Amino acid sequence: MIKTPDKKVTIIGAGMGGSLLAIYLARRNFIVEIYESRESIENLPVVSYKSINQSLCVRGIRALQEVQMWDEVKKLCTREAGRIIHQKNGLLYQAYGEKQGLAEWSINRNDLNCALVREMKKYSSIHTHYNERCVHIDFETREIEFENQLTKAHTTKKVELLLGADGIHSVVRKEMEQAGHLRAKLDVMDWGYKNMYVPAPTDGSIPFQKNAFHLWSKKKAAIFGIPNRGNFFTCTITLPLTGPDSFESIQSTESFERFCTEHFPDLYPHLAPHVNDFLTQPSTPFTSLYTSKWYYRDFCILLGDAAHAVTIFYGQGINAAFEDCRIFAECLDTYYPDIETVFQIFEARRKPDTDVLADVCKARFIDLKDRYEMPLFVSRSNVEMILEKYFPENFHSLYTLVVHTTMSYAVAYKRYRKERHVARLFGMDALVIWKTCIYLITNMFRKAH
Ligand SMILES: Cc1cc2nc3c(=O)[nH]c(=O)nc-3n(C[C@H](O)[C@H](O)[C@H](O)COP(=O)(O)OP(=O)(O)OC[C@H]3O[C@@H](n4cnc5c(N)ncnc54)[C@H](O)[C@@H]3O)c2cc1C
Repeated sequence: MIKTPDKKVTIIGAGMGGSLLAIYLARRNFIVEIYESRESIENLPVVSYKSINQSLCVRGIRALQEVQMWDEVKKLCTREAGRIIHQKNGLLYQAYGEKQGLAEWSINRNDLNCALVREMKKYSSIHTHYNERCVHIDFETREIEFENQLTKAHTTKKVELLLGADGIHSVVRKEMEQAGHLRAKLDVMDWGYKNMYVPAPTDGSIPFQKNAFHLWSKKKAAIFGIPNRGNFFTCTITLPLTGPDSFESIQSTESFERFCTEHFPDLYPHLAPHVNDFLTQPSTPFTSLYTSKWYYRDFCILLGDAAHAVTIFYGQGINAAFEDCRIFAECLDTYYPDIETVFQIFEARRKPDTDVLADVCKARFIDLKDRYEMPLFVSRSNVEMILEKYFPENFHSLYTLVVHTTMSYAVAYKRYRKERHVARLFGMDALVIWKTCIYLITNMFRKAH
């Protein structure tokens, strides 16, 4: 690992990626100036629907382990060993990987951000500047303009090395685009989400069971339930933005009740007390970001959502941002002090991966919203689980490769296609059709009685 005395680096954004990056760099003796447009997360009032849960998987955990934070963060997490699919005719449990003991770790977003802030405070070489919003970058003079969010005063700082970790609406990226250094494409879908923070019934009764991810999927709506410490669940309600049964059309307690009792009757009693959270919260459209280039010479680079935001369907937002930090540090360790090469290699290693991630996240969304109730799809997913269980070395679902390994996302996707091709040659499709027939016959039998 390199130890670089007194090299200054400036990070914009003290969110998930920016904070972890600061810690990685401080451990390499960089002097880190980190600018954040908000107040410190520790001082912000908790807004329930924003303090949602997110899942950490092996990619994020590996980065936290490298900076010796995982043991502390783990205490704030709830272990999820599988998913429970709430179907018309009962619950279907799918373990993530019983034999291998695979799991995901759900954590409240605020708790994780606060843990990162506490960790940053341990390093005297990290200087945090809150309420300072980056508003302009001059790429020729390498000066950055900040606006203080409390006083509205503007200041300009000369910067040696700039890392943009300022999230999906990144000003650093917009400034790079405006200066002609990259092209960015935001792919905004006509669906979005709202979060509700819901206490689980204290007797542990259905519909919520701790230690599992929950999914309710209908043709035109899906709800994900993620467990939290303290017997709470975050329910992420995903709907079309406009049209019938959309965020636009569900604007009153009555329309919310009608919608839930029709589509999610088991869940409605648990959501009903929190209807105001739903009604007062703006919906967030699902957005993927593709960026043609991530860096400018040896001066500036983007990381995390600023470079490659993805939709939430593999729960990879934070994990991908943390993995960026780990790989960026690896590139530094190998190529420092040649910063332009560090940037170049980082982008070359990472961009093909996150482009694939954005694509597979979008494809999974189609599966979740349109296919989870389809017998053929459910059977395929079950057959994949069976193959994974009995041939753990030779067959993996795409979910396992993306979420439960640290292989590059692009390699994971290629491997999935190859393994599935081989499985099909060995009769996987016949197994799927057989399972579907059993499923349909069982259902007919059940209905007849
Ligand atoms: C409310 C919310 C809910 C989310 N829900 C999910 C989810 O359910 N599943 C999932 O996978 N992902 C989710 N995400 C995305 C996931 O959290 C991100 O992928 C992850 O946080 C990426 O980390 P980041 O550091 O790149 O960006 P962020 O964590 O968004 O951090 C960016 C930081 O930059 C700061 N900033 C922005 N602009 C400026 C500026 N001009 N100057 C200074 N500072 C600036 C912001 O205040 C913020 O603190 C959510 C994000 C948000 C904000």
